[in-house]
Amino acid sequence: MKLKVLGCHGGELPGCKSTCFLVDDRLALDAGALTSTIPLDELVKVDDILLTHSHFDHIKDLPLMADLIVGRRDKPVIVHSNAECIATLKQSLFNNELWPDFTRIPSAKNPCLKLRSFKSSANVKVGPYQVRAVPVTHPVESCGFIVDDGEAALAISGDTGPTEQFWKVLNKRDDLKVLLIETSFPNELQALADISGHFTPNTLEKELEKFDRRGCEVLLYHLKPAFVDQLKREVRHLPVQVLELGDTFEF
Ligand SMILES: [Zn+2]
Ligand SMILES: [Zn+2]
Repeated sequence: MKLKVLGCHGGELPGCKSTCFLVDDRLALDAGALTSTIPLDELVKVDDILLTHSHFDHIKDLPLMADLIVGRRDKPVIVHSNAECIATLKQSLFNNELWPDFTRIPSAKNPCLKLRSFKSSANVKVGPYQVRAVPVTHPVESCGFIVDDGEAALAISGDTGPTEQFWKVLNKRDDLKVLLIETSFPNELQALADISGHFTPNTLEKELEKFDRRGCEVLLYHLKPAFVDQLKREVRHLPVQVLELGDTFEF
């Protein structure tokens, strides 16, 4: 499995891009940085997009992508997420007000995008991958995922504060090579992190005690751009790697 970091921040500034990972050049995990990071001939090869939740920093390039790929693919890009997220995309984004309904463009029969929902703790097939969704702790329905290609598996936490079920599901796996995990706010903003469903370095440290790691790489993402330097200092003592834009991994 090949993993490329297109965006690993919880927002944007020069040098920071919202959450987006590319698996094997064909599956996107979240869509916060799809259209400004890869050229059009690579963008049209993305067949599936798996969204952790509906928040703007995770879906922001979906509308721009739809506009770019219209007429350039023979089958729709399938956007997979929990039912709440898919409902939000229909009602609030592709509603012919904020943006055209690209699930009916250029035609309802062969559109740019198809939206496909699953239950928050489902096991679903996404392209060639088996995906296990796990609900995590966030103000809107947010899911972590395990993505498995039959040989190796990666996990992504989604946006979450302290959570339980995710760790129980992860601890049952012996094929996990990489865990992508969020950390958003510095320790001094613990109260803000708690009400907004995010980790600080302090809560990350406590959460990692729940994880039976067995050699799995732990990679941090979703650092809020205004606090990147402070967060890097505050996680320096932890056995984790802070992701940088353009990082690639093969496992
Ligand atoms: Zn976010
Ligand atoms: Zn969020």
